[in-house]
Amino acid sequence: DISHGNILYLEDISVSFDGFKAINDLNLYIEAGELRCIIGPNGAGKTTMMDIITGKTRPDRGSAYFGQNIDLLHLSEPEISQVGIGRKFQKPTVFEYHSVFENLELSMAGDKRVWAILTARLSAEQRDFIDEVLEIIGLQAEARQLAGSLSHGQKQWLEIGMLLMQNPKLLLVDEPVAGMTHQEMDRTAELLTSLAGQHTVVVVEHDMDFVRSIARKVTVLHQGSVLAEGSMDEVQNDPRVVEVYLGE
Ligand code: ADP
Repeated sequence: DISHGNILYLEDISVSFDGFKAINDLNLYIEAGELRCIIGPNGAGKTTMMDIITGKTRPDRGSAYFGQNIDLLHLSEPEISQVGIGRKFQKPTVFEYHSVFENLELSMAGDKRVWAILTARLSAEQRDFIDEVLEIIGLQAEARQLAGSLSHGQKQWLEIGMLLMQNPKLLLVDEPVAGMTHQEMDRTAELLTSLAGQHTVVVVEHDMDFVRSIARKVTVLHQGSVLAEGSMDEVQNDPRVVEVYLGE
């Protein structure tokens, strides 16, 4: 539980849609600083699980705690993002007509108006923070370019940077390498790996080579619950996992 270093704790979570159990007695424990990959065939419940963590979907039963006993099931979606859970969806949604730097600047601020943020003077501290994030995501050279001019991979990294501007403790990342070149995938693996430790990262991903390249621990979901958990080698050699994937 929380007292054993877990930052995220889901227990006995179930949710049905029209009588269909999308999540069925799910238990998931994520340790602070982990980089965890969630895999599983289509319909396994991966998206629904992320939706429950972020408050988008309410489970029918179970418990979900974050950090020092924050009860996620009693918080709204905006409240959950404020306690330090950031989510990146598959499709990047950057501000195409603003520069990379401005995208980060806009993500740092609360709900002030765009013009107010962009015309306000940044403190040295804020500027340093943006520079630090630019370095983490590897886009220093592109800082003044319009986000709309970036490659698909660069937009994905920028969006991760935009999440980082909000100082999340837990980052939920949905299929980050879909549509990426091999080179971009390698860079994304480096980026996510570098975030672990200081942040906790949970990645849902279909690309097994990518999962192998980043994961220390993999959770396999199937029919709304955990089918197997362990290293990539362990889960790939698990006969139950093999059976589920052969059936795809
Ligand atoms: P995955 O992300 O692993 O592909 P999902 O979480 O999207 O799986 O879906 C799990 C199951 O729940 C699927 O069978 C899907 O059709 C069903 N499901 C998900 N969301 C809804 C919804 N809002 N209404 C009805 N069924 C849903």
